[in-house]
Amino acid sequence: MKKALLLLLVIPGLAIQLFGQEEEKVTHLPIFDIHVHAMKTNPAWANPVCPWFLSNMPGGDPLEGPPSFLNLDCVDPLMPATSDEEMKDEVIKRIKKFNMTMVAFGDAEVLRSWVNAAPPGRIIPGIGISDATSMTVEAFRDSLSNGFYKVMAEVAPQYQGISPSDPALDPYFAVAEELNIPVGIHMGTGGNGMANLSQPKYRASLGNPFLLEDLLARHPKMKIWVMHAGYPMLEEMIALMGANAYVYLDISGFIWSYPLDEIHYYIKRLVQAGFGKRIMYGTDFMMWPRLFETSMGVIEHAQYLSEDQKRDILFNNAVRFFRMDESQFDWPE
Ligand SMILES: [Zn+2]
Repeated sequence: MKKALLLLLVIPGLAIQLFGQEEEKVTHLPIFDIHVHAMKTNPAWANPVCPWFLSNMPGGDPLEGPPSFLNLDCVDPLMPATSDEEMKDEVIKRIKKFNMTMVAFGDAEVLRSWVNAAPPGRIIPGIGISDATSMTVEAFRDSLSNGFYKVMAEVAPQYQGISPSDPALDPYFAVAEELNIPVGIHMGTGGNGMANLSQPKYRASLGNPFLLEDLLARHPKMKIWVMHAGYPMLEEMIALMGANAYVYLDISGFIWSYPLDEIHYYIKRLVQAGFGKRIMYGTDFMMWPRLFETSMGVIEHAQYLSEDQKRDILFNNAVRFFRMDESQFDWPE
């Protein structure tokens, strides 16, 4: 008995587990994931994924058809959620376990079900526009004015073959600027053979961060973050942030898909160039629940980052970017 008591004193986590109170006691430092897709499950493309699967992009031959986007050559692939219910449960479980707040966007029905199931304020809904045909400017303004949506994201004109500074999108950005809504724009990263596979209009050149300059000049009060950090256009990204003091970026997507050495090189350079206060953590979560811990681990284990720099990336920078108050992230009793 004495021995057991001693054990409990020495290992507080064990005590919590033994008394079945693990759910009530959250000790994880807060995490802010600013890039989460709320999607309906789709058995047609719910495949397992290997983290860092783009470590090998051997290419192919046009006469033999496109290469596969994913590869499954690893010992422990991440499995996809198999139903909307499972997906929601797994996401909410992680919000609680990791003391996490997330910006999520995508399917409106899925998003609302997540918001209803999550602790208040932990899911910040976003709405995206990637071309002018999907929604009128008036409908977009109404969506942002009714209070549910707080962020404009993911905006991904690159997949439509257009520049973020294209005049067709400008009225939407003007609304975001006027209503003080932060904007997330996809720049860069397309994986293995995106243009050959499912997105024939995708252009690598349209992921160049410099293409944001005209947009920024037209909307000086708009707050934007560059999703996927413009990967792999590092020098352009650094130059853009140097010239535009309000621009932040996220490291989502590439941190779990491209080669690990390459990811660390990219993040290290951004920090080294002076932008450690403008790098925000995100996953680009789609359907694999364990992607959350996989992505977090990349930052937690980065040896070139101090503990303070890790906290900035995992939490503080996003709180500042979204003009939020740190005290609201204390876990409710
Ligand atoms: Zn994206």
